[in-house]
Amino acid sequence: MRAIRRFTVRASLPEPLAGLRALATNLRWTWHPPTRDLFASMDDELFRRVRDPLRMLLAVSPARLAELAADEDFLARARAVTEDLDRYLTEDRWYQEHEAAADAPDAIAYFSMEFGVHEALPNYSGGLGVLAGDHLKAASDLGVPVIGVGPLYRSGYFRQGLSLDGWQLEHYPVIDPSALPLELLTGEDSEPVLVSVAMPGGRELHAQVWLARVGRVPLLLLDADIEANDDDLRGVTDRLYGGDADHRIRQEILAGIGGMRAVRRYCELTGHPQPEVFHTNEGHAGFLGLERAREIIAEAGLGFDEALYAVRAGTVFTTHTPVPAGIDRFPGDLVQHYFGDGRLLPGLELRRILALGAEDNPGMFNMAHMGLRLAQRANGVSALHGRVSRRMFARLWDGFDEDEVPITSVTNGVHGPTWVARELTAALGGKHKEWGHKGQLPSGQGVTDEELWAVRRDLRQKLVAEVRRRVRDAWLQRGASGLELGWINTVFDPDVLTVGFARRVPTYKRLTLMLRDPERLRALLLDQDRPIQIVVAGKSHPADEGGKALIQQMVRFVDDPAVRQRMVFLPDYDMAMARYLYRGCDVWLNNPTRPLEACGTSGMKSALNGGLNVSIRDGWWDECYDGSNGWAIPTADGIRDPLRRDELEAAALYDLLGQQVAPLFYDRDANNVPRDWMQMVWHTLDTLGPRVQASRMVREYVENCYHPAAITVAAASRDSYAGARSLAAYRTRVDMLWNKVKIFDSELTVEGLDSLVVGSEAHVRARIDLAGLDPSEVDVQAVVGRVGDTDDLHDPITVPMISTGIGAFEATLRLPHAGTLGYTVRVLPKHDLLATPAELGRIKLA
Ligand SMILES: *Cc1c(COP(=O)(O)O)cnc(C)c1O
Repeated sequence: MRAIRRFTVRASLPEPLAGLRALATNLRWTWHPPTRDLFASMDDELFRRVRDPLRMLLAVSPARLAELAADEDFLARARAVTEDLDRYLTEDRWYQEHEAAADAPDAIAYFSMEFGVHEALPNYSGGLGVLAGDHLKAASDLGVPVIGVGPLYRSGYFRQGLSLDGWQLEHYPVIDPSALPLELLTGEDSEPVLVSVAMPGGRELHAQVWLARVGRVPLLLLDADIEANDDDLRGVTDRLYGGDADHRIRQEILAGIGGMRAVRRYCELTGHPQPEVFHTNEGHAGFLGLERAREIIAEAGLGFDEALYAVRAGTVFTTHTPVPAGIDRFPGDLVQHYFGDGRLLPGLELRRILALGAEDNPGMFNMAHMGLRLAQRANGVSALHGRVSRRMFARLWDGFDEDEVPITSVTNGVHGPTWVARELTAALGGKHKEWGHKGQLPSGQGVTDEELWAVRRDLRQKLVAEVRRRVRDAWLQRGASGLELGWINTVFDPDVLTVGFARRVPTYKRLTLMLRDPERLRALLLDQDRPIQIVVAGKSHPADEGGKALIQQMVRFVDDPAVRQRMVFLPDYDMAMARYLYRGCDVWLNNPTRPLEACGTSGMKSALNGGLNVSIRDGWWDECYDGSNGWAIPTADGIRDPLRRDELEAAALYDLLGQQVAPLFYDRDANNVPRDWMQMVWHTLDTLGPRVQASRMVREYVENCYHPAAITVAAASRDSYAGARSLAAYRTRVDMLWNKVKIFDSELTVEGLDSLVVGSEAHVRARIDLAGLDPSEVDVQAVVGRVGDTDDLHDPITVPMISTGIGAFEATLRLPHAGTLGYTVRVLPKHDLLATPAELGRIKLA
């Protein structure tokens, strides 16, 4: 029999245990071992199976509960953990101590299509979601007042299985939100709060709002699977990244516009301050900016352009991919279908909305372009990705050099307390330290190589056990019988150099690069003296047949009895599996096609556990590799033929593993410790430890994005949006007059042409017709730099020119370089509320 409906009945807890519910529903337990220990102590065996305090409360027998309710020792420990949580939730943290300035934001809303907090809340597909989860946890640890917002998917992302011949199978278990660590947001009348967005044809899409508590951070998740919607609309939040463009745009309308409305309601109901700053984690939720424009227009009677400046001032946009296929685009017709009748966002003209998403292809609406146009501050997620993004989006800032395109970078980070093995934390002397608070690893002083090596072996051993368990499950699921699986008991060896490779399977990540020369790979795996073992995992998007073919190729390789003891593919990569991999692998391998990996974070999680990265210099590794914290796989950047490039880079990878990595790992002293290897491990922990943490990332967002945005948004909105109005008026003048601005008669003069040296003084003069703009309304600059074969200026310095009479401008500067120099003069817009001079996309060059 199948059930027609499912529901969850809450455990009835004896009064003395009532406090456990609050501990179980705050997801801080996911990064707080003492809380987990408390629940495990209710029933060790059971906890090992359910691994989730809330499910634990449902699963423990009433008899055991009664016993615990009378167990003074247990109750005392429960009280201590509860008090610790209360303290954590209310005490001053970094933000209260360091960002106490009156102009720091009281709240920041963080929008993402996915959040990976823990496998107990399976609402993510991969890196983007896990990053969002880590962002919330680090914000919580730092006391940053973030509110997370996104959809809740009833079937989440898919679970991966394998067919007998290695083809990816997908299934979508249905979740029951009432069985998850979530609470339904209810109104003053105790009824569920519903937010609604208008759909074409007079319909409304409603969603209820679930609240997850991520430490101090509320996470609001919108759920459309409710009776108020017809069947068609109930499906809007069914799956993550499933369905066609129409399905996606509905999800994104709900996430952005509905999400905004949910945040407003949440703050009204709870007294939480309303957010001043809005962060969009990738472009999907970008419609939130339009909803805010609607609010401002309705509330203050502003024009669209004026409202736009107020919106932009408070918006931060993070782009996450340089792969064009990774950027969300919709046919313009579809946008028209949803926004055209004006019911969804009253007061906003369709024409203006479409213009925000305009791109080269006139029929398409580009969510990244809209993200950039709606945000005054934008960033990529590593230094290299920042550069790549500036080039990629340079067309939006016509006339500016790439390095002046206003897209900065904040390198991603990972949440230490989530990802670091507690065995390691304990060995290094931290007694469950709140790493987010200190922002760095506990000091390893006094810990010997032997001790650290023993921890590393322990973690490798635990990985080996997990690998065997999962390989067995996978074969049973593929249809093997237990009798045939005796060989699995000897899969992997806790003393063999262990390499991990796990990630989603888009083409650019090159899952199968290591299979390029199967003979060389086999030789590495089966080396008599210095063998390596490799654990591989990854999911392909269900619609990506090419990705599934790569997985099949991998599975077929590892199914070979000759190598299956040394190399495995584990199906269903998720956070639960990931922990074992990041902790237990000695080497973390990453071989994307440079520069297509925006950041990559799995290697950071490995490094935090003392793993060494072997990686292409892409994403974070490009800026963090220092020659002694791992290895860089040489890239064949210039080579156009992708097959040739793969061949060269694969060969370089085999060379590295066989000639450098394995010899170092197996070079042991009398105590069987690899001294030189351990030196690299220590160096990795010391130098990368603080750098790759999400606490560092969130602090950077606060200092470079959220806080400045709050200042600008206050300036734009005070006195009934006087600032936004003034900037909009200024822009109108600039638009009208800019084409008439002319620079003529510019000259650079120096004294003693024969004796010029670096540092010699030069004078630049120009006559400029500002076409009616006042000199105070523009920035006139002299730019001097090197010139090569072309007249492009390199390493330029920029010096402001001052007005010395009507139409006359002058600057004095010192020559910055030796060699052949060039100069130019340029005029840029200037207004207090511009974050960068490139913002209006206007520039006039001599
Ligand atoms: C960290 C993480 C990722 C992201 O790893 P990348 O290196 O960015 O590919 C993906 N999935 C899970 C489960 C993770 O924990």
